Amino acid sequence: MSVRVRIAPSPTGNLHIGTARTAVFNWLFAHHHQGTFVLRIEDTDAARSRPEYTENIESGLQWLGLNWDEGPFFQTQRLDQYQQAVQTLLDKGFAYPCYCTPEELTQMRETQKAKGQAPGYDNRHRNLTTEEKQTFEAEGRKPVIRFKIDGDRSIVWQDSIRDTVSWQGSDLGGDMVIARAADTDDQPYGQALYNLAVVVDDIEMQISHVIRGEDHIANTAKQILLYEALGASLPIFAHSPLILNQDGRKLSKRDGVTSIDDFRKMGFLPEALVNYMTLLGWTFPDSTKEIFTLEEAAKEFELERVNKAGAKFDWDKLDWINSQYLHEMPADKLTDLLIPYWQEAGYSLNELDRSWLESLTALTAPTLNRLTDVIKETSVFFVDSVNYSEEAMTLLQQEGVAAVISAIIDSLNGNNLTESDAQAMIKQVTKSQKVKKGLVMRSLRAGLTGELHGPDLTQTWLLLNQLGVDKTRLQQARDKIAN
Ligand code: GLU
Repeated sequence: MSVRVRIAPSPTGNLHIGTARTAVFNWLFAHHHQGTFVLRIEDTDAARSRPEYTENIESGLQWLGLNWDEGPFFQTQRLDQYQQAVQTLLDKGFAYPCYCTPEELTQMRETQKAKGQAPGYDNRHRNLTTEEKQTFEAEGRKPVIRFKIDGDRSIVWQDSIRDTVSWQGSDLGGDMVIARAADTDDQPYGQALYNLAVVVDDIEMQISHVIRGEDHIANTAKQILLYEALGASLPIFAHSPLILNQDGRKLSKRDGVTSIDDFRKMGFLPEALVNYMTLLGWTFPDSTKEIFTLEEAAKEFELERVNKAGAKFDWDKLDWINSQYLHEMPADKLTDLLIPYWQEAGYSLNELDRSWLESLTALTAPTLNRLTDVIKETSVFFVDSVNYSEEAMTLLQQEGVAAVISAIIDSLNGNNLTESDAQAMIKQVTKSQKVKKGLVMRSLRAGLTGELHGPDLTQTWLLLNQLGVDKTRLQQARDKIAN
């Protein structure tokens, strides 16, 4: 059997982390088996579907490297196929028109509630006589189409992730609506609904494995009955665990971010994000291996290794994974990624050499968890004058520091400082001022950056020297001490 899987997002919002993680698992499974990954856009909800969401979903999947082999197929272009399936189910006696009005259904639910019964359709129009149907039609009622669900039936399947799953027919809420009522008089019934459309598509697209979130388990039970009624063989089902927040609840908008776009804006790299999403419910056979490409994961990916329990979303872990990718990235590539962040922060790059920028990237890369961190980490190279932290101020006021800084100012000459010049100057000032080398280093750092901590001091100094601002900075610091 050739493996064919699909991701079937509804374009009612931007690409969501849960959908993206389902896409990751489908992609990995398809690639493990040299199978086919299909993209299907489930856009039948006209009121909530928008083309810009479809665009966001497609570009998000591409950004993550989750390219599809077939599609996108759009359900709105396949409505005829669904109508035919409704007709087939009616013709075979698996479905029937139900003429209940919304008021009758509300009344029915209230009665059930009052009696302490589970809410659901009580199948009251399942066996209408021809006369009864004609009476309702004559009243101008337009029927929905319901599919018969046998309450005594146990629906059991072998789930590749959850093992044996069984569902009682009586827990599915009664005979289910598979087509809306007609909008116009010339139609017998209206648009087919979600569960039927999914089944028709999965049959026609020859989907071998349906891998989706566990929130679809009840739909799977209903869909299995539809497969049977349509005379089709079942795919293999696999229900992946949900992504949970720290409180163990489904990750939602309230947790800050949920769309892939949000993660992109927060400065995460796509390769780090897919790496992390893969780990939400799956581990590499060598569980110490946490950094891997999609291709590496695909070689090892088995549904049987996906956890049943929900996966807690861990920001620290995501930051750590992202930092690993940032630290490994060549400076020229990382510089290209950082430029838009610098520009957005209003840092002027016009006068700067590309090689200077790449040196700045190399200097700061080890301090970054996210691309956005570069703003804070490099601000000292872009400001006109520095702000001194409290500890830097205390240091600057220590005895001897003003003299150290003056000695450096006197030795500084031009913008061509080399690493060995810088080292020699530090050594010479240490000697001439009769202080410890550590004090010279700290004084320099405080004077140049306003901080006592930061990346490599010599490299920082060289970059500031190339900008021609090191001497002025040190003079400003000395003036600050004098005041
Ligand atoms: N359209 C459904 C959703 O966005 C997915 C359906 C499926 O995977 O079967 O949740």
